[in-house]
Amino acid sequence: MTTIDTVDIAVIGAGLGGAAAAALLIDAGFDVHCFEQAPEFTRLGAGIHIGPNVMKIFRKIGLEDRLADIGAHPDFWFSRDGTTGEYLSRIPLGDHAKKEYGAPYITIHRGDLHAEQIDALPKNRVHFDHRLTEIEERDNDVLMTFANGRQIAARIVIGADGINSLLREKLLGKERPRYSGWIGHRALVNMDKLRASGLEFETCVKWWWEQSRHVMAYATKRDGSEYYYVTGVPVDNWPHEEGFVDSSREEMEAIFGGGHPMVQALIDATETVTKWPFWNRDPLNLWSRGRMCLLGDACHPMRPHMAQGACMAIEDAAVLTRCLTETGIGDYANAFDIYENTRRDRATKVQTISNANTWLKEPEDPAWVYAYDPMTATLG
Ligand code: FAD
Repeated sequence: MTTIDTVDIAVIGAGLGGAAAAALLIDAGFDVHCFEQAPEFTRLGAGIHIGPNVMKIFRKIGLEDRLADIGAHPDFWFSRDGTTGEYLSRIPLGDHAKKEYGAPYITIHRGDLHAEQIDALPKNRVHFDHRLTEIEERDNDVLMTFANGRQIAARIVIGADGINSLLREKLLGKERPRYSGWIGHRALVNMDKLRASGLEFETCVKWWWEQSRHVMAYATKRDGSEYYYVTGVPVDNWPHEEGFVDSSREEMEAIFGGGHPMVQALIDATETVTKWPFWNRDPLNLWSRGRMCLLGDACHPMRPHMAQGACMAIEDAAVLTRCLTETGIGDYANAFDIYENTRRDRATKVQTISNANTWLKEPEDPAWVYAYDPMTATLG
């Protein structure tokens, strides 16, 4: 890696939002470098939905077809009663999404998506093993200090550093995110055991019980060879120090056992399952200050029940790139204002509905989310 002393734009964090911001800003011709604390990324067992709103951004990045080849294409998002199996809603996706919303709706392994995003970036623009530890705004730039001892100055800094963002802390002060009172279990199920049940599993289905407890289950590969579930369960507190801990089939049985046979088959096919606390923050009253601004979970973390958290991070990246392109980097203050004006209402609305866990439980029109085009939407 070449030594860099100054860059125009530093993106902190190469997660789903940061990697998208780096790709779009590089494509727009900016001098951008992305700094990531992890030494490398691994394929953790988790899936993710990517809506048509964000596939349009991947079209611009040049990844839409590749992701559409890898991911599964649900024809519907079904909501079903977890005990009786009764259908509560059938939200058309598949060809309907392509035609009505302008791009496919896919469900995909998060690691596969992220690997494609990182591979699409020039190697000399992503710097792993760079954990930002200090940041100081000076008259003409921002000085960043990393745990590996490097110091780099940037004209502007974008905080895509997730829910525990150091950039957010710098702008708004130290404050731990709030435990939301909910946890989720995540598992890739054993496909042989799942197939042995003889049941036909829908590509994307959310099973619901009282108190909005749920199991969201979906395929993460186009050929149906991988199937994943994530739950939502209210739990009073998270007593663990770790970000996630092991769970077990027995625990799944204790919470969801005795339900519909398809849910039972999911539990029976569970071998490795982890559980995660869901953290939260209220909407922030400041998205940027001076030469620093926030995007994604650093700015508007949410419980994951609308499957749009990363999508909002990637939409932020697209809109911020458009704003900087329009104003030029010299007028970053104006760009940050337009960015916040364009993003605030939409991100806050998604954050609120996602936290409420009501999305698509009953028939509703999701066009305001999926038909939105962040590449052409009016800038605020
Ligand atoms: P992150 O993905 O958290 O990335 C932040 C990056 O910054 C990380 O790589 C981190 O290592 C790095 N970093 C942090 N601090 C530093 C530092 N000091 N220096 C350098 N690097 C640093 N969203 C969807 O759109 N669809 C879904 O289906 C979906 N399902 C979900 C299911 C679950 C169970 C959960 C928990 C979330 C889900 N989400 C989903 C939400 C989504 O995962 C997040 O909203 C998304 O990852 C946020 O992206 P981000 O880039 O803002 O932050």
